[in-house]
Amino acid sequence: MKKQDFMSELPVFEKGQVWLVGAGPGDPGLLTLHAANAIRQADVIVYDALVNDAILDLANDDVVLHYAGKRGGKPSPKQRDISLHLVEFAKENKRVLRLKGGDPFVFGRGGEEALTLVEYGIPFRIVPGISAGIGGLAYAGIPVTHRDINHSVTFLTGHDASGLVPDAVDWESVSKGSPVVVMYMAMKHWSNIRDRFLDAGRPASQPMAFVCETTTDRQRVLETTIGSSLEDLAKTDIKPPAIVVVGEAVRLRSALDWLGAMDGKTLESDPLGKKLNQEVG
Ligand code: SAH
Repeated sequence: MKKQDFMSELPVFEKGQVWLVGAGPGDPGLLTLHAANAIRQADVIVYDALVNDAILDLANDDVVLHYAGKRGGKPSPKQRDISLHLVEFAKENKRVLRLKGGDPFVFGRGGEEALTLVEYGIPFRIVPGISAGIGGLAYAGIPVTHRDINHSVTFLTGHDASGLVPDAVDWESVSKGSPVVVMYMAMKHWSNIRDRFLDAGRPASQPMAFVCETTTDRQRVLETTIGSSLEDLAKTDIKPPAIVVVGEAVRLRSALDWLGAMDGKTLESDPLGKKLNQEVG
């Protein structure tokens, strides 16, 4: 019996459509099959700064690459302009791929762009991607949930549309109520955010980590505590893009840093300091 070949049943990119696709955090191996299928068929790829060049290399030779990120200190293009570009390309009957780092709907303004497509009646498809705050942390050996640590996790952004620490985040409640907090775009205002955690009573000794350029060959990880974070950070070359994670889950890295282990690091088998249950019988 012939096995079902779903690879050959991946959707055809029709002319005049826009596909909003997540490229994952960097490692091309973390692209979905839908994303790879889209890249291979696209006529135009509108991509942003967080998309790895190796991923763009998968495109057709005659693809038009359109950069929509910040470049050389110039301000980034206005969101509305990017959305309208997508509409124009689609009206020119192109297969338009809007490629975004991570997942398009996670702090990626994918919703805003899709709303413009709806406004102009452009047919579109959404392809989710692996978000840096989940898959990127996995590459650092940090699970965002672990049964012995947390039953919830909070994802938040460290700056809002105006570039400030978002007031819409109830920092006190997050600090008190969320055992693991995963922050995007939080490097710039880290010292301010750190104070909010401490003011809300989060222990200074609590583990945390900064994971930058995750899943790429330039990934760097700093494990520290809330209290020592500023001092420790100053000694490293950790800079954006980075995920900042606060919580006991960071302790698991001593056991689960699988990338480190491939480079010869010895993994600890009991990172939470509890003996594993002995099997009976
Ligand atoms: N849509 C993306 C997030 C875009 S917001 C996603 O789902 O991952 C941009 C922020 O994402 C960066 O400031 C950083 O906090 C995080 N980020 C994205 N890619 C990253 C990477 N490879 N390594 C570390 N952080 C990353």
